[in-house]
Amino acid sequence: TGIGQVIMDTVAGGAIRYSDYVLSSDNPCAGGCAWIEGRYVASAEARISIFDAGFGHSDVTYTVASVWHGNIFRLDEHVERFLAGAARMRLESPLGKQAIIDIMKECVARSELREAYVNVSLTRGFGQRPGEKNIEALTSQIYAYAIPYLWVFTPHEQIGGISAVIAREVKRAGANCIDPQVKNYQWGDLLRATFEAQARGARTAFLLDADNYLSEGPGFNVCMIKEGKVLTPSRNVLPGITRKTALEIAVSLGLEVELRDIDSELLKSAEEVFTTTTAGGVTPVIELDGQPVGDGRPGRWTTAIRDRYWALMDEPCALIEPIDYSRRP
Ligand code: PLP
Repeated sequence: TGIGQVIMDTVAGGAIRYSDYVLSSDNPCAGGCAWIEGRYVASAEARISIFDAGFGHSDVTYTVASVWHGNIFRLDEHVERFLAGAARMRLESPLGKQAIIDIMKECVARSELREAYVNVSLTRGFGQRPGEKNIEALTSQIYAYAIPYLWVFTPHEQIGGISAVIAREVKRAGANCIDPQVKNYQWGDLLRATFEAQARGARTAFLLDADNYLSEGPGFNVCMIKEGKVLTPSRNVLPGITRKTALEIAVSLGLEVELRDIDSELLKSAEEVFTTTTAGGVTPVIELDGQPVGDGRPGRWTTAIRDRYWALMDEPCALIEPIDYSRRP
């Protein structure tokens, strides 16, 4: 497809530029830049304390925004979600929203990357004493980095579709234990499901919550389409920015949208299924638990939403903001 070619060309060009930066640039942050304890460093040098509670207790939340063709997408909303999640975890950010936004953009500018994965994390941090466990004695930390764009699902998979299984061996932690609405690194359940998918010969897995309703998968939200309606879980999922974008596109295409509980039976009756994530856009699911979804090819609505999503990345509008690469030191 046309848009598929656009993605492919960008990926090929980005890969070439990436190796060029790393091999020939005199800018040490070219190809990847991190902000740690107040300093910008090359991604290869990015290190944090082993005593940070983000590591020891997964006492951390984060978000990932993307840069495409030099524009950063929905950054403001990413940082809003990030700070809202932090508040739910009683994590106090040492920096305000604008300072965080500025650091993320600066990481991108210094990396020189036109297609980037831009992560910001807030941890409970560390104290004066090594291994300090008293929460009151810890100083929270912001870390950020920009690295080459990462694909949860490759451009090939976004075009051709993927297979998935509904995990049987593990459930998604829910709001009553580790709230998936707050973006977190406690990937134990998502990783077990990934291994189960591998064992069952599928590309990825969808997890059910404790009530046996669909939640999400390792790094993505899930949507289904049936009878002109896009359905997606109302609870026990991250409110994904890509899902929000896909749902807005769906409405603009004349589809209805409903957030609701989805059990396996309803999911398996879908005409189309797709995943959404910042790190890889909109991916059709063409096989579920060994059975074709619809006619076993990427559905027409999914394809339209995917193509519109990638087109949006290039359209001057309130959702994208150009990175200023000229100020790099
Ligand atoms: N769900 C989980 C568990 C994720 O890790 C992610 C993204 O990394 C998503 C959903 C998708 O969220 P977004 O579209 O904001 O990237």
